Amino acid sequence: MKIRLKRFNESEDIQQALLDAEDVRIVNAEDTADDHPDNNSSWREYWEEETGVKLEDILPEKNGKFLCPGHEHHKEDDGYVDPEKICGCHVQKVNAKGEVIDKNLYITPMCSGCNKRINDIFKVGRKALVKR
Ligand SMILES: [Zn+2]
Repeated sequence: MKIRLKRFNESEDIQQALLDAEDVRIVNAEDTADDHPDNNSSWREYWEEETGVKLEDILPEKNGKFLCPGHEHHKEDDGYVDPEKICGCHVQKVNAKGEVIDKNLYITPMCSGCNKRINDIFKVGRKALVKR
């Protein structure tokens, strides 16, 4: 799969949306394990293709590990995970009470551990979400 890198500014915007911006609340969507992307790619590749950004180019790196966008929810480690643990997660937008406010499914990158945090409300920027 070809990834076309966008202008640096846009990469920075997406990096900020993943790691800093906090204008959208999301939760992991339920019952999505059987939903697979076309042409045998992964949801992570789908996200990278749609955004034009490669995760390993924008996530902070430490000793070969990368900072999970959901790092603030990590209690088990410092938020840095092996690169292959970062996947494209199905999420939905919610309000402060955790009620779904938008029926669309979105893909956003987080680690496989965060993908299992079904009771957590995460915050990201709009640009970190790609419509499923
Ligand atoms: Zn995580």
